[in-house]
Amino acid sequence: MRVLITGAAGFLGSHLTDRFLSEGHDVVGVDNFLTGSPDNIAHLMGNEHFQFIQHDVTNFIYVPGSLDGVLHFASPASPVDYLQLPIQTLKVGSLGTHKALGLAKAKDARFLLASTSEVYGDPQVHPQPESYWGHVNPVGPRGVYDEAKRFAEAMTMAYRRFHQVDTRIVRIFNTYGPRMRQHDGRVVSNFVVQALLGEPLTVYGDGGQTRSFCYVSDLIDGILRLFHSDEPDPTNIGNPNEYTVRQLAEEVLRLTGSSSTLEEHPLPTDDPKVRRPDISKARERLQWEPEVTLEDGLQRTIDYFKGQLQV
Ligand code: NAD
Ligand code: UDP
Repeated sequence: MRVLITGAAGFLGSHLTDRFLSEGHDVVGVDNFLTGSPDNIAHLMGNEHFQFIQHDVTNFIYVPGSLDGVLHFASPASPVDYLQLPIQTLKVGSLGTHKALGLAKAKDARFLLASTSEVYGDPQVHPQPESYWGHVNPVGPRGVYDEAKRFAEAMTMAYRRFHQVDTRIVRIFNTYGPRMRQHDGRVVSNFVVQALLGEPLTVYGDGGQTRSFCYVSDLIDGILRLFHSDEPDPTNIGNPNEYTVRQLAEEVLRLTGSSSTLEEHPLPTDDPKVRRPDISKARERLQWEPEVTLEDGLQRTIDYFKGQLQV
């Protein structure tokens, strides 16, 4: 196969690229380095099965030759990033998804959209099954991301129904691991970096809000299974083990052996109070379930950041 991955220089896009290459496929990576880094794909330069195009996918995407798949991962993903880049986030979720779908249609390629648990907003159903329509504030600061992804899902289904494009939609829940940026603002990278540097861990609110953290290799495995399946409707991929933010902070302190303190900061507007995927569908239809425990995944992430920070 020859697949095109938008957002290939980002955290997830670069791991996805590695996975397709390791299975013997050719990958065309597209990225404009808005929140990604050339470092994430530096190891692929010179690989004859990998081609990189620096391009903003909100504009027409021109790629010569045939494609079997288009996987649309380009978008700021950390709340800190999308609050600083609201227009770019709305554009890449809307215009970028339109361009990526147009490319898939022109090449008669399968299309996979990287959607998110944020389509459920601050959920009133817990855990979240795919059938839940969500509880999103369209005009709050997070709306730029949530509504862009909801629009992207609607656009994907329209191309499926109206243009017969063969589509998949993955709803990704909080994922962590090597290649997250030190300062991208997400909770796992923040806590690990702060613990390793001996700085206070910044707990937003009282830390009683929950998240369910999936290690990156498990997530990529689930996405590959979905891509190769015939499941047309949105599918949750994430780890259903749920922790409070405070529990996560304590686990990071334990594993790093850090003597950092916990420091409370204001809770961001519309920060979801709970989040946990119902993965019954992925279990049944994809025979997928996560395998890496929080302890193992955090240990691998800590080792990565130790190398980055040289501590
Ligand atoms: P990331 O910020 O590391 O990667 C996103 C990549 O997209 C970056 O390399 C960035 O430069 C690129 N990009 C952004 N706008 C672009 C544009 N207009 N043209 C070309 N490239 C552009 O984030 P990530 O965590 O790897 O997230 C990847 C995808 O997965 C996103 O679509 C995100 O919404 C989705 N997702 C991630 C998570 C998670 O926990 N990591 C959870 C839910 C959904
Ligand atoms: N959070 C925190 N301290 C940080 C970063 C995040 O307490 O330094 C909290 C944040 O308020 C949220 C949770 O951790 O409740 C997960 O935040 P993240 O930015 O990783 O992603 P989200 O799930 O909100 O998209």
